[in-house]
Order: sequence, then C-alpha cells, then structure tokens
Amino acid sequence: MTIEPAYGHTLRHPRAELVASLAGASTVPFWLDRTSPDVLPRLAGDTRADLVVVGGGFCGLWTALMAKERDPNRDVVLVEGKRIAWAASGRNGGFVEASLTHGEDNGQRHFADELEAIEALAADNFAALRETLIRYGIDAEWEEQGALTVATEPHQVEDLRAAGENLLEGESLRTVTKSPVVRAAVLHHDGMALVHPVKLARGLLEVCVRLGVRVLEKTPVSRISDNGDGVSVVTRDGVIRSRQVALATNGFPSMLKRNALRTVPIYDYVLVTEPLSAAQLDDIGWVDRYGISDSSRQFHYYRKTADDRILWGGYDAVYHRGRKILPEYDQRPETFERLADHFFTTYPTLRGTKFSHAWGGMIDMSTKFVSFQGLARGGKVAYSAGYTGLGVGATRFGAAVMLDLLSGESTPRTRLRFPTTKPFPVPPEPVAFPAIQTMRAAVARSDANGGKDGPLIRGMELFGIGFDS
Ligand SMILES: Cc1cc2nc3c(=O)[nH]c(=O)nc-3n(C[C@H](O)[C@H](O)[C@H](O)COP(=O)(O)OP(=O)(O)OC[C@H]3O[C@@H](n4cnc5c(N)ncnc54)[C@H](O)[C@@H]3O)c2cc1C
Repeated sequence: MTIEPAYGHTLRHPRAELVASLAGASTVPFWLDRTSPDVLPRLAGDTRADLVVVGGGFCGLWTALMAKERDPNRDVVLVEGKRIAWAASGRNGGFVEASLTHGEDNGQRHFADELEAIEALAADNFAALRETLIRYGIDAEWEEQGALTVATEPHQVEDLRAAGENLLEGESLRTVTKSPVVRAAVLHHDGMALVHPVKLARGLLEVCVRLGVRVLEKTPVSRISDNGDGVSVVTRDGVIRSRQVALATNGFPSMLKRNALRTVPIYDYVLVTEPLSAAQLDDIGWVDRYGISDSSRQFHYYRKTADDRILWGGYDAVYHRGRKILPEYDQRPETFERLADHFFTTYPTLRGTKFSHAWGGMIDMSTKFVSFQGLARGGKVAYSAGYTGLGVGATRFGAAVMLDLLSGESTPRTRLRFPTTKPFPVPPEPVAFPAIQTMRAAVARSDANGGKDGPLIRGMELFGIGFDS
C-alpha cells in the first residue's frame, strides 16, 4: 500500500477556505509592520573613510559593529541602498542556528576534514552573538527554548532513528506536539535560538551609531573602482574614497564580476496567524516555545511570536528567470494558499484561523548552501555571500571573516575553506531557469518517493551541487 505524503502540491482543503483564511493579510512582513524609524541621511557629496560597508542587513551591520570594536579609531561608513533590514534580514523566520554548514550532513559533504574546527567556531559565534546582545542591552526577543525536528513520513522516522536520535513517539510525542501528520520528533536544546529579526537589526544599528559608524540609507552604490591605494565607492549622490570596502550585499547583483554567478536569488515565503489562545495552543500540543521544522527536503519551519501567533514558512523555493529580484515577487498567492493548506493539514483544529501577514523575500542560494568569503582588488575589497536560508546567525561569522581577511592576518577562520574555496557557479540564462526547475522537480520527487534521491540529485551531489533554501 502506498502512503500519501503529508504535504504535496495538490491542495487538500477547499481553495475558497484557504483564500478566506488569507483575505486581508498584510503584505508587510510581521516584523516590519509595527514601527518605521525615521530615514537616516543619504550621502550628500563626496567623503572619505577607512572602511565602507555596503549593505545594511545583518551581515553589513555586524561588519560595521565589529570593525569599530576592533579599532574604535577606524572611520567606518555603512551604506544601504534602501532601508536598514528591509530585505532578508527583516523578512526571515528569526531562527538563529549555530550551524555554519546548513546542518551536519551538508557539513560532512563539503567540509568533513574541517568539521570539528567549524563546529567549535560555530559554537563560539553563537555564544558571542548572545553575549553581544547582553553587553549592549539589545532586546531582540532572544529565546533559547530548543528546536523540535518532526518527521511526517516513515522514511524520515527511520532516518532520525538511524542517526541515533532520541525519538519521541506515541505518548511522549503528544507531550510536544499533537498533529495527525507528525509520526515522531526529536528535541534539541543546544545551538538554537529565536529572535525578532527587526529588533535585532535595529539594535545592532543603534550600537553601530553609538560606536561612531556613519550610516547612510537610500544610497545605492552603483559601482566600486580602484583609486591608487584605495577604492572609490560610487553612488548617485557622491563618491566615498575608502581604504577598504566590505561587500555585504547578499544575493543582490554583485559589484564583483567574479561573484556574479556564485549565488542565485531564490524566493522563500512566510505566513503569520492572528494571535492564538492558550486553549488553541494546548489543543495542538504546543505549550512550550521551541521552534519546529520538518525533515522533508522541501521543509516547513514554524515558531511562535511573542504574542503567540504562529509563523509558518518554507516549502516552496522559487527562482525567477534572469536572476530577477523585483518587489512584486514578495507576494505569491499560489504559494500562500499552499502554505495555508499545509498549515491546516498539520493542525486541523486550527481550521478557521486567519492569517494576519503573508510575505516573501529573497535568499542568496549557493550550490553548497553555505556562505563563502574572499578578497578582491588587491586585498582592499572583502565580500561575504551565499548564506542560503540560514544567515541570521552565520552572517556574524561571515562578517568576522571579512574583517580578518582585510586585516591581512591568518586566523582560524581564514584558514577554513569558507574563504579559500568557492561554490560551483550557477550558469547564466538561458541555462539557469530550466536547470533550476529540473532540480526543483527532482527535489519534490525525492520527497514524494520516500526520500529516495533520483540520479539527477545523486549526480549533482558528486560535483558538490545542490538546490535548497
Ligand atoms: C523568508 C525568509 C526566511 C528566512 N528565514 C531564516 C531563518 O529563520 N533563519 C536564518 O538563519 N535565515 C533565514 N533566512 C535567511 C536570512 O534572512 C539571510 O541569510 C540573512 O538575513 C542575510 O543577511 P544579509 O545582510 O547578507 O542580507 P540582506 O538582509 O538581504 O541585506 C543586504 C542589503 O544589501 C543592500 N544592498 C545590496 N546591493 C546594494 C548596493 N549596490 N548598494 C547599497 N546597498 C545594497 C540591500 O538593499 C540589502 O538591504 C530567511 C530568508 C528569507 C527571505
């Protein structure tokens, strides 16, 4: 007898019911919906700096903050094309994972001989992130309540068992979740936290300003060019001549030709419900505040907000032809309906709940699912990108690697393969779109086929190439 997988493309609930659950949902990310601080000044005329950081997401904020901590006399300018944290850093699920390798299996695949050192540095990075919030009094709603990984298919249960995990099944499973599609679960307590991402970004921004970083918003950088012993950062409203530059521009078009094909922009989508009552949460067995994710290749992630809404995201990972990044891609009704359908499949007792927010955002997928760093322009320009869907914690590490590289020193971080090897590039169009669609279909088939990877995924893995979010 074949068992229908818990989640698929075909809707299980009447479409009208799903559409009604989404009616009136705000298109603004929940985290950005409350307050919008005053716009910071844009560049007005030419200026000079020791270090220009391009990009005002987590990666740029951490780079600027730590540059000042390392050398308070360094003149640091942070340049953001739109608003601080408007992009991925303000739109994510707020899961902070210590892992720098997108999980242990992926770490084994690409960094087996370095994994021990990477895991030690990952734990240090996670602890330093926590410690920074305490030291500067940043209230980012940081919660370390553990992570529940759930298995919804028989093969996922076997995979967790084979990995030697302490499985929760039967009655013990019902103490952590009551969902008809969850067969088993594993609860981990270390190396995972939840945050309010926008509170985190704005807290980091406040510290940057306090430490003397000059922050410019609405100042898109059009190009960087060599100028003798420095670099010119060219914007519409003026040029910044700087000794060094750090590029923290995520999956947006890179200012370095060499990186143009090393990431692809992939869209990921999220729903947030209205606040749920204690009785509703009790009904679904989610009394504590751990974050949850399932073990499919096309996985869902879900968590509670401070006011007990459920944030529910993942599954679809959408690429738009030509590596295009457009505001209209932040909304995708077809994906929202699928996410709502999967939500009610997971928690049937919540049918009738309305979603208050629905949005999407771009992640910078690298074919190794892991960030990479490096130097360009004779060592004057550093870059970090490729965080895929796991950059909330890892961007702090990427920022530290960029600063290490710019210092010219060899450190435990720079000696790893993050800065010395690069992910396999994704070719330009017309190859990219059909290639990515074929990989997406192969990933979906793997989930529908008891987790058995077909020849395409197996073949690509031999070259260290994957597709994930
Ligand atoms: C829907 C969604 C859910 C996610 N969930 C999670 C999660 O739960 N946990 C997790 O770890 N990760 C998650 N991620 C990924 C995570 O959010 C990112 O990896 C991380 O925020 C990347 O930070 P960043 O600073 O590199 O990029 P961004 O936040 O994208 O910042 C880059 C900035 O650079 C600016 N910029 C680009 N080009 C220029 C230019 N030429 N001039 C000036 N400025 C420029 C952009 O305007 C942008 O503000 C998610 C992502 C999405 C989209």
